[in-house]
Amino acid sequence: KSFKDYQLSEEIVRALDSLEYKNPTEVQDQVIPLVLAKADLVVKSQTGSGKTASYGIPICECIDWKENKPQALILTPTRELAVQVKEDITNIGRFKRIKAAAIFGKQPFAVQKTELKQKTHVVAGTPGRVLDHIEKGTLALDEINFLVIDEADEMLNMGFIDQVESIIKKAPSNRVTMLFSATLPDKVKDLSLNYMKTPKDIEI
Ligand code: AMP
Repeated sequence: KSFKDYQLSEEIVRALDSLEYKNPTEVQDQVIPLVLAKADLVVKSQTGSGKTASYGIPICECIDWKENKPQALILTPTRELAVQVKEDITNIGRFKRIKAAAIFGKQPFAVQKTELKQKTHVVAGTPGRVLDHIEKGTLALDEINFLVIDEADEMLNMGFIDQVESIIKKAPSNRVTMLFSATLPDKVKDLSLNYMKTPKDIEI
């Protein structure tokens, strides 16, 4: 298997080359074609499997640089993961000049507000602060085409699941939704049943 099998644009293939990602991992091979085909997905996989790039690659492929409002929103349980996702997206999207932002608690709201006022294609963030920005009108969801719920079981463990649900409800309905989780407790399954369009199940 090669990244060339997915008919990605030259800018994305070049970025993967520069990151020395030579071959797709198993989760990438399953997820990339389905996201490019705009399918909703529930992916049971561990960290370290290459899951961030499994959604990062097709999202970067689909980003329209000219659009100023965010086109993808990635929800993470921790600040560390939000920052990691921002960095991974920035690396994968570097030759398309894709701009990503990380928003999380414990950093001044105003700093993030200023960042979100610039062109931002992809936003990664923790649920509480993301909801805060949506409610204050500093994060627009109307152009969101991709919504990722990363480490959904951790969101549940940390008490963020209701905030995640509120955010999902505010996102446009004509979006692709992906849920990644190491385990699938009932409350996480409920999210997929209530807010996803006949999601494909992937287990790595
Ligand atoms: P993740 O599971 O997203 O946390 O990724 C685990 C690590 O694997 C990260 O350091 C990635 O940079 C790296 N990685 C992801 N995809 C690939 C790939 N196709 N080839 C080599 N390394 C990769």
